Amino acid sequence: MRLAGRRAAHRLGMQIADRLPSGPAPSDEVQMSQYTLTVDGKAVGTDSTFGVVNPATGEVFEQAPQCTREQLDAAMRSSAAAYRGWRTDESARREVLRAAAGVLTGAVDELASILTAEQGKPLAEARREAASTATWCRYYADLDLPREVIQDNDQAYVEVTRRPLGVVAAITPWNYPLSLAMWKIAPALMAGNTMVLKPSPFTPLATLRMGELLARVLPPGVLNVVAGGDELGPWMTGHEIPRKISFTGSVATGKRVASAAAPDLKRVTLELGGNDPAILLDDVDPAAIAQRLFWAAFRNNGQVCSAVKRVYVPERLYDDVAEALAAQARSVRVGDGAEAGTELGPLNNKPQLARVAELVENAIAAGAKPVTGGRALDRPGYFYEPTILVGVQDGTRIVDEEQFGPVLPIIPYRDLDDAIERSNATHFGLSGSVWSADADRAAAVAARLECGTAWVNTHLVLQPHQPFGGAKWSGIGVENGPWGLYGFTEIQVLHRSKL
Ligand code: NAD
Repeated sequence: MRLAGRRAAHRLGMQIADRLPSGPAPSDEVQMSQYTLTVDGKAVGTDSTFGVVNPATGEVFEQAPQCTREQLDAAMRSSAAAYRGWRTDESARREVLRAAAGVLTGAVDELASILTAEQGKPLAEARREAASTATWCRYYADLDLPREVIQDNDQAYVEVTRRPLGVVAAITPWNYPLSLAMWKIAPALMAGNTMVLKPSPFTPLATLRMGELLARVLPPGVLNVVAGGDELGPWMTGHEIPRKISFTGSVATGKRVASAAAPDLKRVTLELGGNDPAILLDDVDPAAIAQRLFWAAFRNNGQVCSAVKRVYVPERLYDDVAEALAAQARSVRVGDGAEAGTELGPLNNKPQLARVAELVENAIAAGAKPVTGGRALDRPGYFYEPTILVGVQDGTRIVDEEQFGPVLPIIPYRDLDDAIERSNATHFGLSGSVWSADADRAAAVAARLECGTAWVNTHLVLQPHQPFGGAKWSGIGVENGPWGLYGFTEIQVLHRSKL
């Protein structure tokens, strides 16, 4: 069945790409894709495809299937049909999620190499991301779905239960396509929902392959995976079937998703952008923290929603901190993520490279100086030198906006209260951190940060049992932990009178 579906998909994929997403490179030849949509448990081909670029070369290396509106309708209907049975048997869902974890564990190498080719990250990191999908499946397979008795007396027995919502439309970005998809899939399915999932057009392939693999163990329709260009997201958010939209991406798109959900009162979880501050207190040892702080900012080339994006440093330590971070940046091996020893790959896409370069130029024009870096690498692909900027002030774009790239502005402060205030003086509120030799003192400062996660002497530690979400414009709702599961449910009260 699957093989026949795949052959059919190859035939259908041999068409001229006519509608293309704005991001990836267009293809003007007759193309085929070895990847398929997953609709109703089957591998489904499409009439057209779009090119996927390897950011380490800047060249299209593969075609992705482009979903039509009719195919999206079929996916939505299939998820709606599957929901009726899937929601009824909690222990079957747990078994299926455990089986899914097994399938994903067996596919780590395959998924990782696809991910590195389309996303750019080093293979070792891609492996960690692929392996984390199984960890999330296992975590949710074992997580309790509580029924809480809130009253049991002469008057009444009152119980609160959590029911699934229905079909979930899930939309993900290009920085962590596999893990961010699984942060949605595992809790949504565990709670009894079904899902139609759409990856970013910049990184559709690993997610499509994950959908193909999971179709081996999931009942048809429980997880449909589609891919396409810029039109596909709005088709999903405006579709009449989903009862919830779970979205991870930028603030600007998140606002569009919220408006699209409003007329139908679809539930939304929005995991949006961040501009995380790290505040260093006056007792830190720059040499001791430099490596951890550097990687908290530069992991995945800074393309992490909750990476450190600005560092506030007491004036006395300013030069030492900047130099210690610059030494880290100079020592990092930048290259093709597929090559052994690469520590930082390219940026994921051309517009993102252009944005990072523009923000650095803007900062330099305003008086900032790169201690190291400050330019794109002179080679094919979307490479930018890891950059440490000094002489930067609040009010500069690189400080006020989310750079989402390998550039870190270091900002001096004299007064700690003022630094906290400046850290909070933004619409963002995803996370932040405080660094000190005195963890209690740092924790007291961290508690004053207006954000979803406040770390002490670390940053960017994300775990399946730890809720993650943003304050202010950084999001609505949370993912992970039991709270992530509850986000895919709504409460039902069962009130039995005893009178
Ligand atoms: P993006 O908002 O451009 O795109 C995200 C997804 O939305 C993609 O799949 C895209 O195709 C889709 N989309 C685009 N327009 C849409 C529309 N009108 N309706 C519905 N869907 C639409 O974001 P990106 O550039 O892919 O990702 C980077 C951003 O994501 C950064 O701002 C980053 O901070 C954020 N992010 C947040 C988290 C988090 O958990 N808070 C995690 C990772 C990334």
